[in-house]
Amino acid sequence: MRRPRIKYPHRPVRYGPSLIRIGGLVPGIRRDLIDPDGWAWELLNLLDGSRTTDEVAEELTRLFPHRSQRLVRAAIEDLMIAGHVEDADEPASRLAPAARRRYGRSRALSQWMDLTPRRTGWETQVLLGGAKVALVGIGGAGCVVALNLVLSGVGRLHCVDRDVIERSNLNRQILYADADVGTLKIDVAVPRLRTYNSSVEVTGECRDVDGPEALRDLAAGFDVVVLAADRPRDIRSWTNRACLDTGTPWVHAGYHGPLVTVGLYRPSAGPCSDCLPAARQARQEELPERTEWIPGIASAYEQAANATSAGFAGNFAAHAAISLITGVPALQTNREFAFNLVDLTSVPVIALDTPYPRCPSCRSRR
Ligand SMILES: [Zn+2]
Repeated sequence: MRRPRIKYPHRPVRYGPSLIRIGGLVPGIRRDLIDPDGWAWELLNLLDGSRTTDEVAEELTRLFPHRSQRLVRAAIEDLMIAGHVEDADEPASRLAPAARRRYGRSRALSQWMDLTPRRTGWETQVLLGGAKVALVGIGGAGCVVALNLVLSGVGRLHCVDRDVIERSNLNRQILYADADVGTLKIDVAVPRLRTYNSSVEVTGECRDVDGPEALRDLAAGFDVVVLAADRPRDIRSWTNRACLDTGTPWVHAGYHGPLVTVGLYRPSAGPCSDCLPAARQARQEELPERTEWIPGIASAYEQAANATSAGFAGNFAAHAAISLITGVPALQTNREFAFNLVDLTSVPVIALDTPYPRCPSCRSRR
């Protein structure tokens, strides 16, 4: 790093003579430093991008002669590792000027959340631009996933869906309008997505995902798979097994009424998506028999979803896919997350720390 500079959104604040908070207000980024003699505060003031590391060390040891230059360098290194420092003199970006204008705010957010030292602030955008994502299902959540990834500048987005647009889709599936009813979703979504960002290669296929083989083909050819479909019933487990076979990271988006869920998985990094259901089923077998109330109205019950609930699911899933591609933010993987739209809180989800030993999907791979 040639000219270290504290990231502007991480700019420190001093409270009284000795407490410094760096990283702003965001939990997971901010941290407190104790600075009894003002040395750290002076160091932070010198890290404004106008000096090299050597110049900062020289100047600070002139102000605080009892502290060595080695200590100053170690403190700068510590701030870099913690993700608070960028290079004011970073190497020129490979991105074209038009792309830098388009994605300037994405870069700003990425740098804000990114706690990994990088050569340039454009590194995550370049990673995104080189990534290929397969999206299964362009319904309520899938439309939002697709739109987000296209706007964010993913390299290639391949959409898979076999359905025709119905009037009942129009309360939540944001890529479709009245005039599209009766048309294949793929035939509307793909050209519409291309109009949002011509630099993204958007492709699609009308395909029935009828088993693990179809998903394995997709997983093998893409960097990330996003599952935004809940039919056929076993599609999540098929995706899980396909991605275990190919080692492809994957995300699923869903909702259970007002409970919005997202899961992200990196095969071989921990439990797979079938581990928790398998563990639950084993536990339930030891519990008293469960009897469901099955009224006659069940068959007339419509799936509960609107543009808001589907949008949350799609937004979280796109965020998770970007995290898997770029590492920013560094989300926990191999687990589920859930958010409750009834009170806008995150819901604690039972997560396994290690694979379930009797999981039918990943047991044989360990
Ligand atoms: Zn498993």
